[in-house]
Amino acid sequence: MKPKVTEHQVQALIVDALKLANLTVLHTSAYRQKGSSGVAKGVPDLLVAHPLISGLWIGIEIKKPGPVRWSSPEQKELYDSGKILLAQSPETALRHVRNACVGTTWNPVVRVKAVADIDRVLNPIDGGKK
Ligand SMILES: [Mg+2]
Repeated sequence: MKPKVTEHQVQALIVDALKLANLTVLHTSAYRQKGSSGVAKGVPDLLVAHPLISGLWIGIEIKKPGPVRWSSPEQKELYDSGKILLAQSPETALRHVRNACVGTTWNPVVRVKAVADIDRVLNPIDGGKK
C-alpha cells in the first residue's frame, strides 16, 4: 500500500524543486493561518517568477496526487479557463514553468537561462524527456 502523501508535503517538494531552478516562489496558502485569510477564493497556492523577469507571475495550484478535489467553484473555474496551472508533483510544476518560459517573448538570453536552470533540476527527475 502506498503511503499517503499530503498536499502540504507535495507543496514542500515542489517549492524546493522550483527554488533549485533559481525561480522565485511566493506561497499564498494559508495552511498555517487560523480563520479567514483575506485571500480571494481560487487564488492558487504558489506564485512563481523568474528573478530576471519583471512583473510576470505564474499561478500554480498544488494538489496531492490522485483525483483532484477543487477547494471552491472559483478555483475550478480559474483552472478550466487556463488562468491557473495545476501541479501534483515537482516534475509537473517544473514543466509548467518551462513551457511558460519557452512560449514567451522574453529576452532570448533570459529565456535560455531560465529553461537551462529548469532542465538542470528536471532532467534528473524525468530523465530529460521533453
Ligand atoms: Mg492546493
